[in-house]
Amino acid sequence: MTDKYTTLVNQVVGKNIAKRLGLPRPALLRRYTPGQPLATGPVLVQGNTSGADELAATLLSWDLDVRRHAVPREKLGAIILVLDELNRPEDLEKPVLSAAASLRDLGASARVITVSRPATESASPAQSAARQGVDGFLRSLAKELRAGATANGIVLAESVQSTSPSALAALRFFLSGRSAFVDGQFLTVATEQGQLPPDFEKPLAGKVAVVTGAARGIGAAIARTLHRDGATLVLVDIPSAGDHLAAVANEVRGTTLQLDISSADAGQRIIDHAVQRHGHLDIVIHNAGITRDKLLANMDHGRWNSVLNINIAAQLRINEALLASEHFRNSPRIVSVASTSGIAGNRGQTNYAASKGGVMGMVRASAPLLAANGGSINAVAPGFIETDMTARIPFAVREVGRRLNSLQQGGQPADVAEAIAFLASDAAGGINGDVLRVCGQNLVGA
Ligand code: NAD
Repeated sequence: MTDKYTTLVNQVVGKNIAKRLGLPRPALLRRYTPGQPLATGPVLVQGNTSGADELAATLLSWDLDVRRHAVPREKLGAIILVLDELNRPEDLEKPVLSAAASLRDLGASARVITVSRPATESASPAQSAARQGVDGFLRSLAKELRAGATANGIVLAESVQSTSPSALAALRFFLSGRSAFVDGQFLTVATEQGQLPPDFEKPLAGKVAVVTGAARGIGAAIARTLHRDGATLVLVDIPSAGDHLAAVANEVRGTTLQLDISSADAGQRIIDHAVQRHGHLDIVIHNAGITRDKLLANMDHGRWNSVLNINIAAQLRINEALLASEHFRNSPRIVSVASTSGIAGNRGQTNYAASKGGVMGMVRASAPLLAANGGSINAVAPGFIETDMTARIPFAVREVGRRLNSLQQGGQPADVAEAIAFLASDAAGGINGDVLRVCGQNLVGA
């Protein structure tokens, strides 16, 4: 799906017209391709804690051009603001204002990344105020950045070091072009678990992954991205999508399983297929989903039930089978596709939003069950993504959906797939029960 307006305003004439008329000027985002450098330029690590020192030393070991102090007028690829020892709101001033002095030096598609602690009840009121302050600060800064630059944050649980595997993995994800459409968001690293891969270009090597709804759209993009990252794939979709499913499977050299995920034995059939054809099962991506939009006043049983059944009840049933199976106990990973509609609500989507809110609740409550076997379960909540589904929205409504986010454009299916591939990796093992929005910081209203 193309967004012709974004292409137009990135050419000289279109750019000038848009500027004169005060129209949105979405940037062409830097998206990941294998071999691409992690950052677009030098990385400025600010903060004077031991966490900041250790992080800077690790970044140096990755051959990044690391600065501990700004060099005047040098174009920067990223600013990492380490705020892991805040005690009161006044502590924000010095690091925040010194980062402010370097903002004009950020290049196109640059990154600002905060590293902070959670504002939990265990912190003192002043400490919690400072920590929660990082949230508001970062989300506002994300709305001020231009030219495809983004701002995201990593929240380290109290006992977690700034150089723990998943903190580093989250840092790499946010720095890289893999997070092109993630903006104004936080990832929480809950534990020291997780393992960085021997080869950062193949983080899923040796893994067998199942993707539901893989015949088209976001599911097909997930299959391509997991394949690129080294996984062996089982692609699931309904029998009527069999031809498309086979085409995607050919491309990614995976096997197909024609299956309605809402059937009672879906979980067992997935396990049996993966084990019989590939020897094991490591990752399940719950992507298949449907919409049956109607205002609630006009809602009928059929629309309500089909959406709730496919989008959430099927995932719950499949997870139950997975958790009961001896074949899903070796650091198993589940990633579910939710939606920003499930966070902020959407007119005409009471059924869909209930199902997607349900996905997020399910993920939170399932986290300890997966952790028992060294595994994890997380969700990704896409905003406006350019797919067949959104291409059918009337033009004016579609334009509003596309532009009402900090990056002023819709995301690509690959953007959702990148976030899913990251959360499905062992490197992200310390992140569990979390929801990551891939929405360009959609103005969701919640
Ligand atoms: P899509 O309609 O293009 O693809 C969905 C796929 O799931 C299809 O191939 C379909 O055949 C399959 N499927 C549907 N019911 C199934 C069932 N019972 N069993 C097996 N397969 C089934 O949709 P998409 O836009 O690619 O969306 C993928 C996921 O992302 C969905 O969960 C959707 O809710 C979510 N999402 C999409 C957007 C967006 O902007 N496109 C935004 C937020 C969330």
